[in-house]
Amino acid sequence: MDSGHSACRIEYCNIKTAVVLANTQKRLVILGAGESGIGAALLGKQQGWDVFVSDGGMLKPNFKQELVTAGIAFEEGGHTADKIVNADCVVKSPGISDKAPMVKEVRAAGIEVCSEIEFGYRYKGDSKIIAITGSNGKSTTTKLTYHILKTAEYDVAMVGNIGYSFARQIAERPCEWYVMEVSSFQLDDIHTFRPDIAVLLNITPDHLDRYDYKIENYVKSKFRIAENQTIRDHFILNLDDKTITNHLSTQSIRSQLIYFTMQEQEKINEGGFIKDDEMNIRYNGEDMNMSIHDLSIKGKHNQYNSMAAGISARIAGIRKEKIRESFATFEGLEHRLEFVATVRGVDFINDSKATNVNSVWYALESMKQPTVLILGGQDKGNDYNEIMELVKEKVKAIVCMGIDNKPIHDAFDSEIDDIVDTNSAEAAVKAAYAIAEKGDAVLLSPACASFDLFKNYEDRGRQFKEAVRNL
Ligand code: ADP
Repeated sequence: MDSGHSACRIEYCNIKTAVVLANTQKRLVILGAGESGIGAALLGKQQGWDVFVSDGGMLKPNFKQELVTAGIAFEEGGHTADKIVNADCVVKSPGISDKAPMVKEVRAAGIEVCSEIEFGYRYKGDSKIIAITGSNGKSTTTKLTYHILKTAEYDVAMVGNIGYSFARQIAERPCEWYVMEVSSFQLDDIHTFRPDIAVLLNITPDHLDRYDYKIENYVKSKFRIAENQTIRDHFILNLDDKTITNHLSTQSIRSQLIYFTMQEQEKINEGGFIKDDEMNIRYNGEDMNMSIHDLSIKGKHNQYNSMAAGISARIAGIRKEKIRESFATFEGLEHRLEFVATVRGVDFINDSKATNVNSVWYALESMKQPTVLILGGQDKGNDYNEIMELVKEKVKAIVCMGIDNKPIHDAFDSEIDDIVDTNSAEAAVKAAYAIAEKGDAVLLSPACASFDLFKNYEDRGRQFKEAVRNL
């Protein structure tokens, strides 16, 4: 009886508390319980919000456990409008489109919608942010910049799209510096987010389904990385990217613009350029030089990424020696031009992350040997003309790896004699190995998404590596 009595009392207390809380606590609803959503929920709870998480699908068990442990209410498998439209603020997962009915309802109700980086930003205190965006090279540049700051013994965390939520980091271990990979989807719902250093690597068409198939909308979204910057902040841009420079001329940006280039060296008073195989980073009247052959990651694209990271690091106050050391010791990322093995004189390279034609261009550009190219998967409307010249110059055969290989045949049948169809990593590796001769390379750089045959690009890359090891 006693326990029943106390249970009753507790319930009474809870109701009373709920009433009090309802009067004082603001309600935060998180739509989408992925890494960023869970991070925002944990930070919100810590900061005194009444948090509710709602996911249209099922939650991953580890995320569910985290919510239970933190005492955060949630639902899965659908959205209950009544529990959502009473929010003061909704944090929307970058994976959810504005066209989703629940998002439309939230907006129609006039509720503030923000992205997780915006929500995290409000609690970042005096810390500083280096935010990196672009169509390709974000993860590499983020990891490289982080590596430099870490080598220089800064108190730094790597956050954002690279896999660890910014908001979670602030809740669990706040740092003085954050190096953040930022996607256009995260930028779509910022309001005050202001990185101290913003980087825009490049812009090529991607994700256009989320931008009404208008590249201008995608470009505008990328430029939002600088929209709240002030004269104290820096905006680092690729001067060789015409999409960027054309759009820039229509913008009024308050931050200090700093460029990197391989084509217009004479325009650089401050910034990065490459001339005669020498990379030069010029900042505050001081030059830092390094041979491109001493960079641990190869390819032109990585020279661009290195310039962007190097300039960011100089602005962050890191000495030249530390930057040089970091460039030489950086290990790169899995699935990005990752060397796998040499089998009887044939090099195998895993570039599974190359999910668009532009990244394949850079992969081919960096190839020194005759190459058997493994292409294919889910085609997002690729224009293969962009890589036609490089394919003619360097590719001796194409191995298609996908359920529908027609777009590849349409593009290359008239140019490449040897085109083989396969529909698994194992078959593709065997076919490529049968064609390749000693001194050649086999490059998996698919230009397509992986979802027709694999779980994701990581799964594709791992199956490729496994198949190579089994040769
Ligand atoms: P993101 O995070 O933007 O997808 P990653 O660093 O993961 O970029 O690289 C994705 C793919 O693009 C890889 O195949 C990589 O080799 C290629 N890549 C990396 N940097 C660049 C760049 N600056 N320009 C074009 N392609 C790049």
